[in-house]
Amino acid sequence: MEHLINQNIAHLKPSATLAMNERSNAMIQSGKKVYKLGFGQSPFPIPDVVVNALKQNAHQKDYLPVRGLPALRHAVARYHQLKFMIDCTEDDVLISPGSKELLFLIQMIHRGQLLLPQPSWVSYEPQAHLATKSFHWLPTTLDNDYLLDPATLDDYCRSQAAQPRLLILNYPSNPTGATMEPALLEELAKVVSEHQVLVLSDEIYGDVDHNGQHTSIAHYYPEGTIVSSGLSKWCGAGGWRLGTFVFPKNLHWLLEKMAVAASETFTTTSAPIQYAAIRAYEGGPEIEAYLQDSRAVLKRIALEVSTQLKKHHIAHPTPKGGFYLMPDFSHYRESLSQRGIITGSDLCEGLLEATGVALLPLSAFGMDDRFLGARLSYVDFDGVKALDKIRKKPHATAAELAPSVMEAIKIMVDWLNQ
Ligand code: PMP
Ligand code: GLU
Repeated sequence: MEHLINQNIAHLKPSATLAMNERSNAMIQSGKKVYKLGFGQSPFPIPDVVVNALKQNAHQKDYLPVRGLPALRHAVARYHQLKFMIDCTEDDVLISPGSKELLFLIQMIHRGQLLLPQPSWVSYEPQAHLATKSFHWLPTTLDNDYLLDPATLDDYCRSQAAQPRLLILNYPSNPTGATMEPALLEELAKVVSEHQVLVLSDEIYGDVDHNGQHTSIAHYYPEGTIVSSGLSKWCGAGGWRLGTFVFPKNLHWLLEKMAVAASETFTTTSAPIQYAAIRAYEGGPEIEAYLQDSRAVLKRIALEVSTQLKKHHIAHPTPKGGFYLMPDFSHYRESLSQRGIITGSDLCEGLLEATGVALLPLSAFGMDDRFLGARLSYVDFDGVKALDKIRKKPHATAAELAPSVMEAIKIMVDWLNQ
């Protein structure tokens, strides 16, 4: 009966991140030791004040407004204003059960071609297939930390007939951990403005910039930028499913159509979660301390993993935010090929089977599988213990904060050198 499945969807498989999480968990259940560097969820607990707000709101049972609870939209707008200097009010905010849902809806609704820097997060391209949207990958290089070079975008736009376009940017980046500095954002803003490209700026890792210095492109291109974010990463609440989009006033026509699509699909986001999210977005000293400590832990681990990899000739952009790092194992190409390992997928498969270290192949991120690299999530550690440790011992090492991550790196390097 498979012929009854629409052509645009027939070739799609379960999302690589979620499939790897389930595969790793199944291996663990069957008694194997697995280092879960293939999945990216926050290792940290949700702050107590936010958990308490959820407890107090467990009784909330009514359907809430499609766009989200007004008090939550107000808190989300203030958060974006105060943290990232984005000029917005509650009328500009849309709430959803996870930002992934809104990322899909915008692709369904906006008529333009989708542009994606290569590599980009796993779900944007499959969503384009679901939405039967045309898309184009924009190449990047290691020299540029795999960030989009404004000249690449400019050349592409000039080489094609003018048409509506939607560019998804994601920084700090999943899969690289690199981020865009203000000067680059400003330069890029000039190009997108000149070619009238709509920017969907996925800033879900913005508040886990390791130095707490995230800047939004909305600051330089306010009229053409929609900012995507949510509670999943900075608040440790991926399973709560709460995402946000912030629109500029001149794109309210798009917000309104997205709200129509929301009303016909997910209806609204879970009521208790929305009430609790108000507390998260209100912030305050406990939440700021939590963020500072989380960033310090991530930064320490990222830099020590990065140092280890560099020592073994594994090239990658130095991570500046988020949970990821993108190692390039090309240095080992010859010896790996003698072991039958030619592609990034071969490498991830071989490594997992032989050692239990799980990574994700970059083909899931739009890279050619012949590129001998992978995405490494360095968040397989106990976040409660790590926060406690860094509070007591600010100079704690990565091995003290994330013993299994550091062990996995050693095992991986030994396997490469076999
Ligand atoms: N964008 C990026 C870059 C991500 O890594 C994720 C991962 N969860 C999402 C969007 C979607 O997040 P959520 O649906 O949990 O808001
Ligand atoms: N964003 C996480 C990752 O890239 C997982 C969650 C998801 O893909 O929805 O690993």
